[in-house]
Amino acid sequence: MRLLLIEDDDRIAGPLTEGLGRYGFTVDHVRTGTAGLTERAAAPDLVLLDLGLPDMDGLDVCRSLRARSAVPIIMITARGEEADRVVGLELGADDYLAKPFGVRELIARIRAVTRRAGAPAFTSAGPPGTPDPNRPPSGAQELGSLVVNRRTREVHLNGRHIALTPREFDLLAFLADDPGTVCSRQQIMDTVWDPHFFGPTKTLDAHVAALRRKLGDPGWITTARGVGFRLTVPGEPVTSEAAG
Ligand code: CA
Repeated sequence: MRLLLIEDDDRIAGPLTEGLGRYGFTVDHVRTGTAGLTERAAAPDLVLLDLGLPDMDGLDVCRSLRARSAVPIIMITARGEEADRVVGLELGADDYLAKPFGVRELIARIRAVTRRAGAPAFTSAGPPGTPDPNRPPSGAQELGSLVVNRRTREVHLNGRHIALTPREFDLLAFLADDPGTVCSRQQIMDTVWDPHFFGPTKTLDAHVAALRRKLGDPGWITTARGVGFRLTVPGEPVTSEAAG
């Protein structure tokens, strides 16, 4: 999926382009409204539009884009632009995100907007159009004796409800997105925390420790030394690296 990002602030565009790239999105980044409207690189599947641009009003960019195509548009807005959001939606933008936001949140919006626009569904677990066999429509995902329900944000283990903090749930749900696959520390920080997260990531270790304790078996979350973590069902064979 090809995204056109129109954003003049490189401190936002940089991590965003990188984070989205890790999820398989191709991002064309331009810094002005004019460049966004004259962008000739392959027609984007979706436009991420910052409203505060140096050369023209983002709302005018939105209006011009909509006048020429039905491409889904997600506005990126700063504080104090509440009125602009309303106007933008009236001008035909599909959704908006207020800064700061995480890559995971953005991807959820992209999914929702493309679904509404009738584009083929896609998941992060596979190429576009590939349904995720582990994800029944109810939103409940079963991993051995563990059931993760993203719709209700509830977790059950052997039929017993496990009380998790919102962040613990997000971390578990993120790891459960692709069981058995190692998620790097940076990838986890970018999505479960924030793409603008700087500083020590000890909080991640603390949350992993809390999850292991609550799940009653450290085997649920395996450490890939020097890389990150992955979710594994205890007792099921683990491939490659040693558990930690
Ligand atoms: Ca801006």
